[in-house]
Amino acid sequence: MRPQLKAREPEWAFTQVHRRHFLASLTALGASGCWFRPGQGLLNPCLNPQPPDRLKSHELAQQAFADLRPEYLWDDHVHLLGVGDSGSGIWINPAMQSLAHPVQYTQFRFYLNASCAEKDRADHSFLLRLLALKQAFPVASRFMLLAFDHSYDKSGQRRPDLSAFHVPNEFAARLHREYPEHFEWIASIHPYRKDALEALTRAAKSGARAIKWLPPAMGMDPGAVLCDGFYEALARLGLPLLVHAGDEKAVHGSGKQEFGNPLLLRRPLDHGVRVIVAHCASLGQGRDLDKGPGGPWLSNFSLFKRLLNEARYEGRLFGEISAVTQRNRAKGILAELIETDAWHSRLVNGSDYPLPGVMPLFSLRKLRREKFITTAEASALTEVRRHNAILFDFMLKRLLRSGSKRFSPSVFESRRIYGQPEGLPGTQSQPQQGAG
Ligand SMILES: [Zn+2]
Repeated sequence: MRPQLKAREPEWAFTQVHRRHFLASLTALGASGCWFRPGQGLLNPCLNPQPPDRLKSHELAQQAFADLRPEYLWDDHVHLLGVGDSGSGIWINPAMQSLAHPVQYTQFRFYLNASCAEKDRADHSFLLRLLALKQAFPVASRFMLLAFDHSYDKSGQRRPDLSAFHVPNEFAARLHREYPEHFEWIASIHPYRKDALEALTRAAKSGARAIKWLPPAMGMDPGAVLCDGFYEALARLGLPLLVHAGDEKAVHGSGKQEFGNPLLLRRPLDHGVRVIVAHCASLGQGRDLDKGPGGPWLSNFSLFKRLLNEARYEGRLFGEISAVTQRNRAKGILAELIETDAWHSRLVNGSDYPLPGVMPLFSLRKLRREKFITTAEASALTEVRRHNAILFDFMLKRLLRSGSKRFSPSVFESRRIYGQPEGLPGTQSQPQQGAG
């Protein structure tokens, strides 16, 4: 059933009960020594996702959408969130709903608030808000919705105890079928699953545009021989792998940061798989595995750059810029990504929604101080963000500059990497039932 899209602002607002629980959990989080100083307030005010006309006609908004082909404007990193209260099949680890785990509990509350979801009908309200956010974008643009698989161990056993959450492929595929004018979808399949190859074939037939992995949380080692059959199938089907690299802070699960080492991705690349590295591996350090398992520690970003600069991976390896504007990223990385135009044809944009709605994660003040944006841009973006977190994320990245450089418009035309060129413009794949 397609929910009505009409804005119903009061229902998106954070209720008093939510607020009380939330503040209690924040106290616990503060005691754990985590996180930040708020810059734009702590909570997403969840205003009407259509910014007022004054903002829509603002020259900065015009500038953000100029020189782009709308049908190529795909956001490749939009998470689905919920608690499974709508028959979606979404499951979340009970730790995320228990005050006995204050960090996970608080993070989940932030994600609910970031997406303006209501606790008592989380799935439905999340989706309503997402559709309304999308309507602020050109009609031909798409959000790419991410499924999220369980953790599995090497024997192929599903491990809910090591899983953060689960968003079934069927659910993401269904949303694509029901809203083809808004959503593409990306499947998630753990390569250690005994039925991994069948699930992959089903996903491809159901119109999945890629496969998403988050190795530190999902517990797959991208450099393991165990993945080879999966890589061969990906290469055969021409399906890209959108894979997180670098340290993972937002999702717990298996807790294997070493699986975020970018050099492990040589294995899929050498199998001929198109690999898109989420966040450009912009957090943390990894071993220089090219020098052996005891190699020196280097920044994950420098290891990613090494791969990017290898001629044999041209046309095969890409970097994705979601999260690189968050306050915990180094200024130098963002500046280098913007200034190195030679990389721009290899970069794609995604928002990592709902994270742009987690207010303390971004500091416009810091970005202004570092001269990536002007004071006028910071104040317009602050206002846009109160209405529409994905539009905010998009506009921010379009407006960023380092010296005289900006991200090329092509960075935002993510369909270049995921789309079927013969399908352009505007034709849809014909998805079938039963992705799994
Ligand atoms: Zn993500």
